[in-house]
Amino acid sequence: MGSDWKMGLYRLLPVRLQEAALAFYARGLERLYYGPGYESWKDRAREWRRGTPDSRQDWIRERLSYIVRTAALKAPFYRKKWKGIGWKEIGRSGPLSILPTICKQEIRMNEAAFLNEDRSPKSLWMEKTSGTTGTSLKIFWPKEMLPKWWALVEVLVRNEAGVGQDVPRAMVGGRPIIRGDAGKPPYWRYNRRWRQLYFSSYHISRETAPHYIGSLKKYRSRWMTGYGSAIAALAESSSGAGLAPCPLETVIVSGDTLLAGMRRSIEAFFRCKCRDSYGQAEGVLMAMECGMGRMHLLSMTGIAEILREDGSPCGSGEVGEIVATGLLNDAMPLVRYRTGDYASWAVQQTCSCGNPEPVIENLEGRVDDYIITEDGRKIGRLSTAMKRSPRIHSSQLVQDRPGHAYLLVRPSDGYRHSHALDVREDILQRIGRFDLEIREVPEIPKTPSGKLALVVRLDERPGMKPVYEKFFKGTWKP
Ligand SMILES: [Zn+2]
Repeated sequence: MGSDWKMGLYRLLPVRLQEAALAFYARGLERLYYGPGYESWKDRAREWRRGTPDSRQDWIRERLSYIVRTAALKAPFYRKKWKGIGWKEIGRSGPLSILPTICKQEIRMNEAAFLNEDRSPKSLWMEKTSGTTGTSLKIFWPKEMLPKWWALVEVLVRNEAGVGQDVPRAMVGGRPIIRGDAGKPPYWRYNRRWRQLYFSSYHISRETAPHYIGSLKKYRSRWMTGYGSAIAALAESSSGAGLAPCPLETVIVSGDTLLAGMRRSIEAFFRCKCRDSYGQAEGVLMAMECGMGRMHLLSMTGIAEILREDGSPCGSGEVGEIVATGLLNDAMPLVRYRTGDYASWAVQQTCSCGNPEPVIENLEGRVDDYIITEDGRKIGRLSTAMKRSPRIHSSQLVQDRPGHAYLLVRPSDGYRHSHALDVREDILQRIGRFDLEIREVPEIPKTPSGKLALVVRLDERPGMKPVYEKFFKGTWKP
């Protein structure tokens, strides 16, 4: 459902045809995800933990050496940037840390310079990232990487939690597959091909919860995936509506930060273990929570460093930025990529679950990115809407009261007001009735901690009010 015209067409269809379209779409994805290499990489993933530490290290070093060589010789960005740096020994005897880190902004400025010149556009698959500042990156994966990635997900994430692709599931996602103003069920669509119930994360409330839980039972979903915040909201709304707990086999969350309270709500209502997982559209690193509640890296996906602001490595227990080097993508190599996510190395690295992979803690993504509707619903994960236009440098939602917010837009080259209108429309599709005013601004204010937040709720940050008030008047013009 990538492009806008397809989504527009989809919205016009009756539910039955929408569901047929989903199955058709899934069939197309299947050819890519479960194509050549899928089975052999599943075997490889199963063997990974049975191997020796040396055999794992050898594999990682060999991949790293290959990725660095490919970047240095085939991608114009690195060819220029690494001039004079002795990259040839990396992966053999040299440390990776002699190379500079790269940030999202460098990629955004010139995505094409990161591409392997030997690859044809037809051999590539595009992923779009969501950015905290409301801007996005296009990341190109070689198509043959998809079966590898999904084989690792199947074995090291899903099977690890006792489920798999062939077990019926429900997913709570950020795609606006149901109109924001839909006033009655279904708040979901069912993809028969994958026996996957796709829940709207934008309609969850006490009033709608019985419908959601009813459909879980109807379609016999046995596990659930999606955003932790949305699944927790579903659990809380369901308990609040007085529904009896609905046991599942597991809940695997990803995509936003799982706070302790969310986990409690999920585990209490769905009567199962909730597992956190970590990954990103950039495809540079995955991590998964084990049965002991600890977060293990999946080293086959990438090499992780945790760095301080000055670029030096953090000590164990010290929180810093995750910098990752992807080991699977040789079409758009990302070497020492600053992910914008934060974590620390666990002081205790051995885990009684038996998994020898490194353990991280304090994983933090974007905790706070939701706005509140007039009827008290919390709507999060709006970054997909906010990232849609490359003509917008960055954007931010500033909520001053329930049901009303400002959309601040900092224009980029080639910007027109209609770009902001498109973003606004996309957001409203997800929320439904909501008063959202656009303000073009020369710069988006940072929070006191220096971060650019996607959403600012002013009642929680009274000190920020004077900073924003001048923008609300709307006198500045691009
Ligand atoms: Zn473990």
